[in-house]
Amino acid sequence: MAVPRSLLVLENFIGGKFVPCSSYLDSYDPSTGEVYCRVPDSGKEEVEAAVSAARDAFPSWSSKSPWERSQIMNKLADLIEQELEAFAQAESKDQGKTITFARTVDIPRAVYNLRFFASSILHHTSECTQMDQMGCMHYTMRVPGGIAGLISPWNLPLYLLTWKIAPAIACGNTVIAKPSEMTSVTAWMMCKLLDKAGIPPGVVNIVFGTGPKAGEAIVSHPDVPLISFTGSTLTGQLIMERSAPRCKKLSLELGGKNPAIIFEDADLDQCIPTTVRSSFANQGEICLCTSRIFVQRGIYHEFLKRFVEETKKWKVGSPSDPTANMGALISKEHLEKVKKYVKKAEAEGARILCGEGIESLQLPTRNQNGYFMLPTVITEVKDESCCMQQEIFGPVTCVVVFDTEEEVIKRANGIKYGLAATIWSRWRGTACDRRPRGTWKQSLSCSMKLIFLSTTFYNADKLRGTDPGSQTPAS
Ligand code: NAD
Repeated sequence: MAVPRSLLVLENFIGGKFVPCSSYLDSYDPSTGEVYCRVPDSGKEEVEAAVSAARDAFPSWSSKSPWERSQIMNKLADLIEQELEAFAQAESKDQGKTITFARTVDIPRAVYNLRFFASSILHHTSECTQMDQMGCMHYTMRVPGGIAGLISPWNLPLYLLTWKIAPAIACGNTVIAKPSEMTSVTAWMMCKLLDKAGIPPGVVNIVFGTGPKAGEAIVSHPDVPLISFTGSTLTGQLIMERSAPRCKKLSLELGGKNPAIIFEDADLDQCIPTTVRSSFANQGEICLCTSRIFVQRGIYHEFLKRFVEETKKWKVGSPSDPTANMGALISKEHLEKVKKYVKKAEAEGARILCGEGIESLQLPTRNQNGYFMLPTVITEVKDESCCMQQEIFGPVTCVVVFDTEEEVIKRANGIKYGLAATIWSRWRGTACDRRPRGTWKQSLSCSMKLIFLSTTFYNADKLRGTDPGSQTPAS
């Protein structure tokens, strides 16, 4: 493999200073397959230094007024926004996503996250219960909890990292954050702006490295009482187990296998392009991506034909190509894993209608070794198949037929994940009325077409791997 001569070398950011690490990991450009960056391979020692810095910074930061913290966070948002293009270019190169997606989704959302919590901290209210007959009143006080350990995944790197840093520091906590070892560059770029924004040393510490080494050192540290994690369900379960002995406060945002349910009265002109986008945006590497499409029998054939035609219009290309709809997948290993799901489905008797194994990729010469894959549509796949049961987290979606509402509710709910679902029906009432019947997995909120569920473990045995469906198709 060709290794460029001058590599970008990242350093940890601890106590307001960039600090070199004793060992480093290679980070790849997914669109070329070349190493372009070296990332600290931090462990207990680096995490200990970050905890010490965060501990020292806590008294002063937590006693600042919400207004002061808000001003500083807005300044950081402004600074990132001023360099939006540089951040977007870096995110696209590091993750493989298209420059268009990074410019219009990732970086604007990172800016928005900081502004959102900078604003919300000014308007916090709390609950109060009066018990007049006993002459007492209960009230809730919100106080900073201490050092927050924040761990984020590779699919939306700065977007999800700021979604954790912003609420934590807005509320007066200090933080140790660890982005994914595969996508660390934009977090490192943000560190360069912290001092200018007015964030005191030690309030935001970033420690780079792998989950088993740096991540576990954060999760198991006795002086880190709060953990906020976004990532896979299995890692979330591990973090829950590691945190349990110390009763840490946990926030877990995990995986999904999200159904779209398309009733016969759906407006297909609107539904089809939207469902293609919800299946394949960001290479299908979004936790909310649609991956199981249930279509009512009366429109099944028309839907399938039009859905495949629309999918074939999606251009897979160099992430820097502004006309590309999809870039490269995150890594060689992930690409192989996603392709194995397609092979497994085929071996089980499913039909691949377009994409992997059907058409060929057309890529520029410099991208020939990149981790690209065409958006792939699978049909005639059984509900028990691993493609219908497991989160693939790539550009693969399954389309299946259903007859009745009762049947589709049962099938859509027949997986171990929660997260999100979409319902398409021209009659407004159809989508809304279905929720109060209580048949969908307890949804917290419902709009006409999208139901979000907070992530929950629905079947712990499956998650522990005792169920064969919880393994990758290769295993
Ligand atoms: P992952 O679980 O492999 O890794 C996520 C993060 O956890 C990384 O920073 C990783 O280094 C770290 N980590 C790994 N093992 C760890 C351990 N033992 N202890 C502590 N930290 C550890 O997930 P991923 O592959 O990076 O991301 C993809 C997953 O994230 C998908 O399942 C996707 O659905 C999920 N996700 C969920 C949401 C959501 O909001 N629900 C959003 C985005 C992604």
